[in-house]
Amino acid sequence: MKKAFSMLLCVIMLLTLCAVPALAETVSVTEAGFGGDVTVTLTVEDGKVTDVQIVGPGETEALGGAAMPVLAEEILAAQSPYVDAYTGATVTSTAVLAAAEKAFAEAGLSVEAPEVVKGEDETASCDVVVIGMGASGSFAAVSAAENGAAVIGIEMTNGLGGMGNAAQGMFAIDSVLQHERYGDDLGSDEQYWFEHIFDRTQYLGNGQLIRTLVGESAETVQYVLDHDIAMYLSAQPQQIAHFGETIVYHRWNNTNPFVHMAEYIEKNNVDVRFGTHADKLEPAGDGTWNVICTKADNGTLTVNAKAVIMSTGSFAGNEAMMREALGDDVYEAAFVIGGCDGTGLEMLYDNGAAKGELLTMNHGVGPRAASTPDGGAIKVATQLTMNTPILWVNRQGKRFMNEDLLKDTVEFSSAVLAQGGYAYTIDSLLGSERYAG
Ligand SMILES: Cc1cc2nc3c(=O)[nH]c(=O)nc-3n(C[C@H](O)[C@H](O)[C@H](O)COP(=O)(O)OP(=O)(O)OC[C@H]3O[C@@H](n4cnc5c(N)ncnc54)[C@H](O)[C@@H]3O)c2cc1C
Repeated sequence: MKKAFSMLLCVIMLLTLCAVPALAETVSVTEAGFGGDVTVTLTVEDGKVTDVQIVGPGETEALGGAAMPVLAEEILAAQSPYVDAYTGATVTSTAVLAAAEKAFAEAGLSVEAPEVVKGEDETASCDVVVIGMGASGSFAAVSAAENGAAVIGIEMTNGLGGMGNAAQGMFAIDSVLQHERYGDDLGSDEQYWFEHIFDRTQYLGNGQLIRTLVGESAETVQYVLDHDIAMYLSAQPQQIAHFGETIVYHRWNNTNPFVHMAEYIEKNNVDVRFGTHADKLEPAGDGTWNVICTKADNGTLTVNAKAVIMSTGSFAGNEAMMREALGDDVYEAAFVIGGCDGTGLEMLYDNGAAKGELLTMNHGVGPRAASTPDGGAIKVATQLTMNTPILWVNRQGKRFMNEDLLKDTVEFSSAVLAQGGYAYTIDSLLGSERYAG
């Protein structure tokens, strides 16, 4: 009797357990996106993903912001992290897809990465090969082609412009736009800006390059204007620290310069190989060079060229180089906007280029994003700390600079470095009020 009763109990318990729906599990993984952290959260029920949420408040609204809901839908529909990147938002897409891949693994969902069938190996030859079709490479390629060269461009992403897509304008002195506004007397000249930039870079910059950048800037503006990229000089300098100075920032006129450069690339028959990563640069032995690349289909492309323009941008995506440049403690505290992997520099070093000191620009490297006290949306710390009026003090609690300098990332970094690299902000608003603002 007792045995029958306990068996009945077991059956009832089993039936009860079967009736309880499986608990939904959520898994979140965060990766660094374009303007801050990007978090992918999967809801998993019965081994199936039932919801995908992607949050990245620091992403550019029109690019990464538009990409996130689309990628969420595609991941959910495919039940896989292996979906196509969103065109035009490469950095956000890479972060989302890497986070999704980890989240699937953490949730114990085994999804096989699609097998890539290796494509054919290819060779090509030209007068000039441009490695990296970003801000400098795309203009260099067009200019070489306009001067009669047969040009091949190698670009690892699927679009032009690289980090140049983040820029909204360019520096120049003595430009046609400045002369239209100020007449003959601009209020400052090439020598002033050469010294100013050199001084603000703590004399660590390359003097010859800075001289070229400043000296050729007016001509560069003209070249940009001649390629249908409209620009204007703003009424006031962007940064409070520069009020009263000649306006040197030439803004694109609500346009993306690389859309126009794409037209000139086509017009001048520049052969751009997108989705192609340059891995190695070797002398071919006859005065020409071979660039060995990996194509998107994993086949090899070898380009033989009489001249090579290396325009592979930053090394912000190379952890070892970034640690060398920033030091381990700063690297670990820093948020770094995604960047290139440093292969361009490595290719140059392999061919005997002198290894100078690795330097980073403050633009694109900032303090890591902070969470709100109530665990809400995340904002990039620089956005919060750069909102004046906030009192900045050093480790002795002493004010050490005019807080207007906060609008100039280079100058405020220098000021903080001069205090031993640490500064504190004293804010009259409660944290939550400022976060809310
Ligand atoms: C947030 C932000 C805002 C900015 N705003 C401004 C601004 O307003 N004005 C301004 O003048 N500057 C601005 N800058 C700086 C400016 O974007 C850079 O100085 C400029 O883009 C550098 O040009 P580049 O051609 O050297 O590199 P990039 O423009 O980054 O181009 C490098 C290209 O090389 C490709 N590449 C790299 N390695 C390989 C490889 N091995 N094989 C194939 N392709 C490769 C990359 O995909 C990329 O397309 C800003 C930077 C940031 C981060």
